[in-house]
Amino acid sequence: MQESVMQRMWNSAHLSGGNAAYVEELYELYLHDPNAVPEEWRTYFQKLPSDGSAATDVSHSTVRDHFVLLAKNQRRAQPVSAGSVSSEHEKKQVEVLRLIQAFRMRGHQASTLDPLGLWQRPLPADLTIHHYGLTDADLDTTFRTGGLMIGKEEASLREILDALQQTYSRTIGAEFTHIVDSEQRSWFQQRLESVRGRPSFSADVRSHLLERLTAAEGLEKYLGTKYPGTKRFGLEGGESLIPLMDEIIQRCGSYGTKEIVIGMAHRGRLNVLVNTFGKNPRDLFDEFEGKKVEGLSSGDVKYHQGFSSNVMTPGGEVHLALSFNPSHLEIVSPVVEGSVRARQDRRNDPLGDKVVPVSIHGDAAFAGQGVVMETFQMSQIRGFKTGGTIHIVINNQVGFTTSNPLDARSTEYATDVAKMIQAPIFHVNGDDPEAVLYVTQLAVDYRMQFKRDVVIDLVCYRRRGHNEADEPSGTQPLMYQQIAKQRTTRELYAESLIKAGVLDEAQVQGKSDEYRNALDNGLHVVKSLVKEPNKELFVDWRPYLGHAWTARHDTRIPLKTLQELSAKLLEVPEGFVVQRQVAKILEDRQKMTAGALAINWGYAETMAYATLLFEGHPIRLTGQDVGRGTFSHRHAALHNQKDAGTHIPLQHLYQGQPRFDLYDSFLSEEAVLAFEYGYATTMPNALVIWEAQFGDFANGAQVVFDQFISSGEHKWGRLCGLTMLLPHGYEGQGPEHSSARLERYLQLCAEHNMQVCVPTTPAQIYHLLRRQVIRPLRKPLVVLSPKSLLRHKLAISTLEELAEGSFQTVIGETDQIDAKKVERVILCSGKVYYDLLEKRRAEAREDIAIIRIEQLYPFPEEDLAEAMAGYKNLKHIVWCQEEPMNQGAWYCSQHHMRRVATAHKKGLFLEYAGRDASAAPACGYASMHAEQQEKLLQDAFTV
Ligand code: AMP
Repeated sequence: MQESVMQRMWNSAHLSGGNAAYVEELYELYLHDPNAVPEEWRTYFQKLPSDGSAATDVSHSTVRDHFVLLAKNQRRAQPVSAGSVSSEHEKKQVEVLRLIQAFRMRGHQASTLDPLGLWQRPLPADLTIHHYGLTDADLDTTFRTGGLMIGKEEASLREILDALQQTYSRTIGAEFTHIVDSEQRSWFQQRLESVRGRPSFSADVRSHLLERLTAAEGLEKYLGTKYPGTKRFGLEGGESLIPLMDEIIQRCGSYGTKEIVIGMAHRGRLNVLVNTFGKNPRDLFDEFEGKKVEGLSSGDVKYHQGFSSNVMTPGGEVHLALSFNPSHLEIVSPVVEGSVRARQDRRNDPLGDKVVPVSIHGDAAFAGQGVVMETFQMSQIRGFKTGGTIHIVINNQVGFTTSNPLDARSTEYATDVAKMIQAPIFHVNGDDPEAVLYVTQLAVDYRMQFKRDVVIDLVCYRRRGHNEADEPSGTQPLMYQQIAKQRTTRELYAESLIKAGVLDEAQVQGKSDEYRNALDNGLHVVKSLVKEPNKELFVDWRPYLGHAWTARHDTRIPLKTLQELSAKLLEVPEGFVVQRQVAKILEDRQKMTAGALAINWGYAETMAYATLLFEGHPIRLTGQDVGRGTFSHRHAALHNQKDAGTHIPLQHLYQGQPRFDLYDSFLSEEAVLAFEYGYATTMPNALVIWEAQFGDFANGAQVVFDQFISSGEHKWGRLCGLTMLLPHGYEGQGPEHSSARLERYLQLCAEHNMQVCVPTTPAQIYHLLRRQVIRPLRKPLVVLSPKSLLRHKLAISTLEELAEGSFQTVIGETDQIDAKKVERVILCSGKVYYDLLEKRRAEAREDIAIIRIEQLYPFPEEDLAEAMAGYKNLKHIVWCQEEPMNQGAWYCSQHHMRRVATAHKKGLFLEYAGRDASAAPACGYASMHAEQQEKLLQDAFTV
């Protein structure tokens, strides 16, 4: 039997002298990829001394020292033989292995990815044989192929090089060696190397590919002729997206997927709508002609519209949902994730087999926008993961309107951000539809097997400008000279199929004619479209449509039920040791249940959740630190002091109860809030809450408020019952932790688009949260939640108030005050109420009534009028706020108050008591804060 390389080396004292370097090199290779070294070396390296961590973590120096020691021992035992087996061939063998490894890592840098052929990428030196000391004379020498999966153990260098170039450096650039998990790396190697980077597709598949390209090109041509110069953000240059999308849907379907949610920006959207979703072209034409959608007050441009349809796949019917999205690129990605997670939760699909997210990005936005990173970060976090997203970058090589890649990013590829989660990335030349098809298959298979994100970088171009009204050659002269000469993807592919004898010219022309005729007749052009969709695949929103914000609702619940639920919540598993302060909170809650202690905020809020769960509504609560609550009032998750195990009482109310999902979020606001928006717009039956750590943390998520939460219903007809808890209150903590920027939300309010509430008692938050779900309409709810009020001795309620009451939009005077004596009404919202109350009590003033406005929008004018009705002798009416004059409710809500004041008594003029206008939301000095607070209270009593 032939001696193995290793045996020969051992036998010849190979560890001495020059061979040490060889072994070290091998070891380096092994560290990078265990499969890259021959079996016997792998086994040997696996047995090397370990520093206690995994084999691949043994440090280089440990191993080198080990070799040196071995070498010394061997030197002592036997002299180095002059005829060492350090033969030239063996050295070259190692170099060949290194070459193989280099192609796996960097072969993408030599692949032809740019359809325009304009990229100038120097060939990396380590992809040439010369870099390894090999020469042309070695090309016909036979070497072991190592782990290279080309079907044989040995091959000539020429064959090896050829296989490497074909696999890794044709029109696909695969980046996967940055993945730490060797099973995944081997999976890619196996898939790519076994077909040399390109399987051969059947004539049927190739003909279908052409048919899809014809559809993609045909639609743009049609629209270009029918509506010349009209903005449509056409797909021209990136037509391969359409077969790519088809493949994702069909292949996911064959895996048993039931729903796919897709997010995408403008480019190619109309094409996807018609050619992938099966939107009726006639409807699209109506939009081009400016036809208004009934029921929407503002509506939106056609390239922001979402869509839903069902298509047939080999695995059955699949529901497709395209998310509506604003112009702000990328922000739709976390919305898609939230929508997918809601669907997975609904289907009890924790692995993500049944619902798959697909995000389509632009190259510049993908590289530039931070929310991309935030969305990647959530991909494996338990509260947010969705079993892997398939990302597609429509890389048209020009950022937004005119930017070139040099100005758009710091890395070679637009996709490098995906490496932060070790996502595999496939760059593919958009003018090679078969390569596109193949990487799509790989991407879907990878996602379904490993449940992780994967990226396809579809390198294409933009035949026209940023939009159809734009002239691109002004800023990209060379690129557009080339584009003018560039034949379309369809033309190129048709020609290759004709050449290969797959189709003849008449058949190719037939496909174009057929498509055009379908458009002319306004017919659906997606053959797999299901005309009578299975409605069970998605939620019925009809119960939530068409209600006014005054819709009737009843948030009461029998006292006995409340007490039973509360008792259940206080049960802690046997042997569970609760932390001392938390135990005290639970003890207090026991007393509250028995009616022996007034109810505080934490208790009331928890009971809102418990009662909603009892009534069958799922709940999802996320945000930084929500388990405990930023200010330690909630303790919805208990932590065992013995073993750090957790117990979430609200998950153990009764067998078969709805989900209670409670997740401390990672430190993002933008992506997390967008995710929760996506979740809430997909799960109407649930109470979905995002809590900001401090209210002003929501600043980082402003785009979500502006472009989705406040306007989604009016732009797109998408209802959303998302609740946001934003801690707010001036307590001397400085500019950053005082204000939730109430004014911003009020400024966004119009057409009853959302609710802005400032509850001041435990019973109020209890009924407010219950109202949010029990009332049939779905409107976003912004709650300015308290901080110090959580423990304020006056901010308390009774069990009866929970059992019997309801949310009051206005709370009139609660002390016994003779209405006839009242000459001054102070209107206020939030915590300042208690300061005013204490001051009035301290000063024993009987001429002042204090009215709390607990819902600032929609403004409850009638309820306020009613609360004031008894005060016939009013001389003053004051709005008192803690916020500076240019902030808070003053500017946005005063017209409502004035209207009520004037109606109450002619000439009654609304005064202001609050901080002076200020650039910062609050001051940073405790003494200044106290002075200001004192003054605004005084003003309320005197202005
Ligand atoms: P989807 O599963 O997102 O494709 O939604 C299926 C259908 O449900 C849509 O076509 C709408 O009619 C309806 N729908 C979905 N989400 C909402 C929402 N947030 N508000 C109102 N209707 C919705």
